[in-house]
Amino acid sequence: MPQLRLDTPVQFLKGIGEKRAEVLARLGVHSVQDLLYHIPHRYIDASTLTPMAHARVGDDVACAGTVISKGVLPTRKGLRIFHAVLRDASGVLECAWPGQAFLDRTIIVGQQLLVAGPIRFYHGRQMAPRELIVLGDPDDEAAGRVLPVYPAAEGISHKQIRAIIDGHLDAMLGVVTDILPDTLRAQFSLPTLRDALLAVHHPTTTAEAERGRRRLAIDELLDLQLMLARARALAREGERGTQFTVHRTLTTALRAGLPWELTADQKQAIREIFDDMTGRARMHRLLMGDVGTGKTVVALFAMLLALENDYQAALMAPTELLAEQHYQSLSRLLAPLGVVPELLLGRLTAADKRAARQRLTSGETRIVIGTHALVQEAVAFQRLGLVVIDEQHRFGVEQRAALMHKGDAPDVLLLTATPIPRSLALTRFGDLDMSVLKMRPPGRGVIRTALRTPMHRNRVFDFVRHAVQEGAQAYIVLPVIEESERADLRAAETMAASLTARWPDVRVGLVHGKLKAPERDRVMRAFRDNEVQLLVATTVIEVGIDVPNASIMVIEHPERFGLAQLHQLRGRVGRGERESHCILMIAGAETPERLRAFAQTDDGFKIAELDLAERQHGDLLGARQSGSVDFKIARFPDDTDLLAEARALARTILESDPLLNHRENQALRLRALTRYPRGETLFRVG
Ligand code: ADP
Ligand code: MG
Repeated sequence: MPQLRLDTPVQFLKGIGEKRAEVLARLGVHSVQDLLYHIPHRYIDASTLTPMAHARVGDDVACAGTVISKGVLPTRKGLRIFHAVLRDASGVLECAWPGQAFLDRTIIVGQQLLVAGPIRFYHGRQMAPRELIVLGDPDDEAAGRVLPVYPAAEGISHKQIRAIIDGHLDAMLGVVTDILPDTLRAQFSLPTLRDALLAVHHPTTTAEAERGRRRLAIDELLDLQLMLARARALAREGERGTQFTVHRTLTTALRAGLPWELTADQKQAIREIFDDMTGRARMHRLLMGDVGTGKTVVALFAMLLALENDYQAALMAPTELLAEQHYQSLSRLLAPLGVVPELLLGRLTAADKRAARQRLTSGETRIVIGTHALVQEAVAFQRLGLVVIDEQHRFGVEQRAALMHKGDAPDVLLLTATPIPRSLALTRFGDLDMSVLKMRPPGRGVIRTALRTPMHRNRVFDFVRHAVQEGAQAYIVLPVIEESERADLRAAETMAASLTARWPDVRVGLVHGKLKAPERDRVMRAFRDNEVQLLVATTVIEVGIDVPNASIMVIEHPERFGLAQLHQLRGRVGRGERESHCILMIAGAETPERLRAFAQTDDGFKIAELDLAERQHGDLLGARQSGSVDFKIARFPDDTDLLAEARALARTILESDPLLNHRENQALRLRALTRYPRGETLFRVG
């Protein structure tokens, strides 16, 4: 056999013929390198066997012993359970495999078994094994080892893969070279690549395996962080912004006149924004804060800093309703300062629009609030210094870019109520600057989230009716899913009609996505003004609407919503002083665990992590939608801390060698560019 190399096709390895090579190819394993990086997705820890007599209910243990009896027991529900009783020197243990009656054909009395799993209480101690290994089989010297379990495929078992990797591991490790310079490895206390691979494939403890995996994950994340850091550096070099000066005229006046104290988070965010705006580089900052955390006033401070410097500021919102809402609240805050904002909407008459544009061009208007009407070509500013985009994800990239290109490189502040898990933010945006508002202003009523089943339906609706009679307003939200859109909309209409019939004295409104925008706005306005007391709605109410008097939300079929979406919905209540209620009407008799978790937390970031995990799960099942970068070894959210480490590593490397030209960094550069070929231009001089 010729000298082994990383790019040697696996087909030439002993024990792998053409057939197996084909099967391995389906797992993405073509070369020796692929085989080395085909890492276990879990481990069976048989390194510490528990004597059966010591296995306690609630423990998760591994035991080995002889089968002394076995059989299949049917249950009343028709499920067939395979049972076996094992014995070791210390005692006996009963094991049960529900639904796996077929094991009766493979397991025989007298055989040695290794089992691992949780011990529960069921007429005594019983293990529900997660793992089962028949010992004494020459391939399997499992007892006393931590056994890797590899992703397998039809035609090749994880055991066969384990045998192949075991057989070639030494030879393969012999041709591995570490791509990270030793000094850096030492600085970040990382194991060598060879040690990491050995630990992953042949660990003595699961902790050792995990340390190895993390080193491999860092390598993988480093490639992306190198790209992102380079992109960011180029953007900074290229984009000179306006260097504002804090004159403390308008900004100080605003602070002095506020009817409440800013939260510590708001103060911190304002400091970060002012640091950016007074710096030389153009600001490009994301202000992230759950609904109700008070992003608007933070943005107002930024706008006033621009005004103090004789620049104009623009605030763009995704709907006319939201733009109006901002206009009203900002007008109130600005009145004492003698600043009069302008409102620019698509529905203004042509003459009004022309006049508004005229005031922008002449510089008479200093602050403008509007919808995407702001990005129309005809809109020109006298001197635009700051652009604020509310609910930024609701705009297309081109719309955001169009506003950012008005004026001479205005600073940019993006607002979002959708907490982005740190892992996603770092992979998707890399070095985007971010300020976070976590705390809510004091004095808000709490939101209680309750889970209710069909049994409670009447009581829930009595409760709603009672609260409405007492003067509160309420939302009833129904899902609309594309496949069943027609039926769903009918359900919303039916709900509105039946409530109107049932409660003739309650003013009921209905909004859904199929209504024309003016009609929808009309109903929403009526709700805002308390002309409508009970609003039946589909998810169109998700965005920013602020009705402090609305304190009840009933969500029908919560199972059909994503967790992040539920959280956005819930944020519509709890805006006033009154205690608020969010009631999830579950259709079935059982409460899904995810909804229970949701009901228990109000932390938007935590929910975002749960939501992300859920969607990644969805990806595995084939419903791809998260838009994140794919990783083979790194896992989220578990590896979030590694992202920060990879980012620090990338920065350290680029600090002394921005284009990765040094000899010791050549291999790094090559690997990163192999993975991200489009990053080429980022590493060219010029
Ligand atoms: P969001 O972050 O959801 O956009 P808003 O900016 O609309 O939140 O603020 C929600 C409400 O809280 C507004 O009525 C605003 O005036 C009020 N608010 C903002 N900051 C504070 C504060 N520090 N103390 C009390 N109320 C505040
Ligand atoms: Mg807002």
